[in-house]
Amino acid sequence: MALIDKILKLKRDKRAVILAHNYQRPEIQDVADYVGDSIELSRKAMNEKEAEMIVFSAVDFMAESAAILNPEKKVLLPTLGARCPMAQMLTVDEIKRCKLQYPLAPVVLYVNTLASAKAYADVCCTSANAVEVIESLDADTVLFGPDRNLAEYAERKAGKKVIPIPEWGFCPTHLLFQPEDVQILKMQHPEAVVMVHPECSSEMRNVADFVGSTSQMCRYAKESTAETFIVGTEEGLLHRLIRDNPEKKFILAYEDAVCPNMKLNTLEKLYVALKEEKHLVTVPEPIANKARKALEKMFEITN
Ligand code: SF4
Repeated sequence: MALIDKILKLKRDKRAVILAHNYQRPEIQDVADYVGDSIELSRKAMNEKEAEMIVFSAVDFMAESAAILNPEKKVLLPTLGARCPMAQMLTVDEIKRCKLQYPLAPVVLYVNTLASAKAYADVCCTSANAVEVIESLDADTVLFGPDRNLAEYAERKAGKKVIPIPEWGFCPTHLLFQPEDVQILKMQHPEAVVMVHPECSSEMRNVADFVGSTSQMCRYAKESTAETFIVGTEEGLLHRLIRDNPEKKFILAYEDAVCPNMKLNTLEKLYVALKEEKHLVTVPEPIANKARKALEKMFEITN
C-alpha cells in the first residue's frame, strides 16, 4: 500500500484529523484535512467534535495551542524537534520583568509563544488579528511579544503604543526578505503585486502593496484582479496559492525563504506519528487553564 493510502487508512481507523500549516511540505498539505494559518487551524481543532485525535503538522506552539483548546483529545506533533525559534525568544521571566515596568499595560501575546508564556497573557493574537485585538483593548499602551516587526506593524495600524517584549524578537525566515530583491523582481515583472507577511521588516513592508497573514494573502490573491504576485513569506504558502489560483503566477520574493523547523515534518513522520500515536503534546493543567483564557479572549474579540 502506498504511504499516502496507509496514512489515510490510519486516519480513518483512529478517527484522527490532520491539520497542516500553510508552511508544510506540499505532500503533507495534500494529505491533510485542513491547511491554514494558526487561527484557521485553532478554530478547526476546536470544531472537530467527532475526532479523537489531532495530528498537527507544524511546530511546537501550534500543537500546544491545539492541546490547550482540546484537553479531551490526543494531540500529536509528528516531529518532536519541530520548534519555532521565535517562540523560544520570549521567556516567562522577561514577561514578569516587563509587567513590573509597565503594570497598567495589558500583555498581548502572538500565538507564536510557548504555553508557559501564554499563561501570563491577557489575550493572544495572530498576525491576522493583532491589530483588531489591540484596538479592542481599553488601554493606550500594550506589551506585545515576541515579534518586534509585528509589534511595530500593529502599533502603526492601531495607533497605540505597542512595546515589544523582548525588544529584539524576530522570525529568522521572514528576516531573509530584502527590499533590494523585490526591486530586482519588480524590474523583471513590473505588473506584479507585492504582498508580504507582517513578520517581515518595515523596509519590506514599505515596498509592499499588501501586508497580511498567510490566510489574508490567500484571500487577497483570490480577489485581486492582478495576475502576478511577488510573495514575502515562507515558500510553503506558494503551494496553496498556486493550487487555489492556477491561472495566476506567484514568485517568492527570496527563493531560499524556508523555515527549516516547519520542514522537519515529512510524510514518513506523519505516518509514524499516526501509527505509534506520537509525539503526544501535553500542557500541565494550571498552565493550560490560564493560557486557554488568553486564547478564548482572542476568539471572543475576533468572533
Ligand atoms: S516561519 Fe518563523 S515564526 Fe513560523 S515557525 Fe518558522 S521560525 Fe517560527
